[in-house]
Amino acid sequence: MDISFIVPCYNEEDNVELFFKETERVFSATGYSWQYVFVNDGSSDATRSVLKKLYEDYPDSHITVVNFSRNFGKESAIYAGLQNADGEHICVIDADLQQRPEVALKMYRHLEENPACDCVCAFQKQRREGRLMSACKLAFYKLINKIAEIEFKSGASDFRFFKAKVKDAVLQMEEYHRFSKGIFSWVGFQVDYIEYEADERNAGESKWSPFKLFKYAISGIIAFSTAPLHIATVIGGISTIFSVIYFFITLIRKLTYNINVDGFTQLALIITFFCGIMLFTIGIIGEYIARIYQQVKKRPIYIADEILKKK
Ligand code: UDP
Ligand code: MG
Repeated sequence: MDISFIVPCYNEEDNVELFFKETERVFSATGYSWQYVFVNDGSSDATRSVLKKLYEDYPDSHITVVNFSRNFGKESAIYAGLQNADGEHICVIDADLQQRPEVALKMYRHLEENPACDCVCAFQKQRREGRLMSACKLAFYKLINKIAEIEFKSGASDFRFFKAKVKDAVLQMEEYHRFSKGIFSWVGFQVDYIEYEADERNAGESKWSPFKLFKYAISGIIAFSTAPLHIATVIGGISTIFSVIYFFITLIRKLTYNINVDGFTQLALIITFFCGIMLFTIGIIGEYIARIYQQVKKRPIYIADEILKKK
């Protein structure tokens, strides 16, 4: 098998069939062999039955369907897809046709023509989103590249084509809080970037609200950087120095000019200031501890309810 398409699907009832047909159309002219691993990430619409029908209607098309027992998120869906992919090359692609099969073919050709390249990653130069969102994303990349141990390319998507050895490496990373961009960067290998333009979504709506994206960004920072923990130490240190200096200033004012301090205001200021810092730093530490806690429980990354796969 030359290619495995990994397709995470969450409420994509109106997209999966068209996605399948479009991909068939584009790749049938090539002479490659390919399979599909559709991962139904606990959809609440008819995605499951649409996929089952696809599986039954096209018995020769090498379709595998992994049905999750609930929604575990795209990251877990990609992991399940990788586990079930048998191809020598793997393509992670969305079901909504924003990422075109034509681009996937271009990426595969790039892999073929450049034997040294292990992974092709599609990135968007021009984003289809508002200015504010773009600015936020840019700020996120600036920040994470400053503090993380690995490099993140701005605009890089999860739309990737890579060799099986990259898949094996990614599968070895069994962390519960998955952040694909970081994981693919962490495993290394030769990565080439191809520019692409995301299409409009075919049907349905995006599952990423600004709040979900924000949470995801925080998750990415925490997964690949311990800098926030150091922030806690730095802020703690600075505020201690500040309070010592302030103590001496007050002492000197009292001893030399006999100025009395308005006790209540000062106390209130100091208490709120330090309580704020303490809560902030405890919060940061808490975030990491929460993740350690979840990781030591060794929960599986996903639970599959049913897997449709031909022997
Ligand atoms: N997706 C998923 N689980 C989720 C959310 C999304 O499997 O919890 C899938 C979704 O079906 C789609 C892909 O991930 O195939 C990208 O999602 P979406 O199109 O909502 O993201 P966007 O393109 O807006 O970034
Ligand atoms: Mg999309």
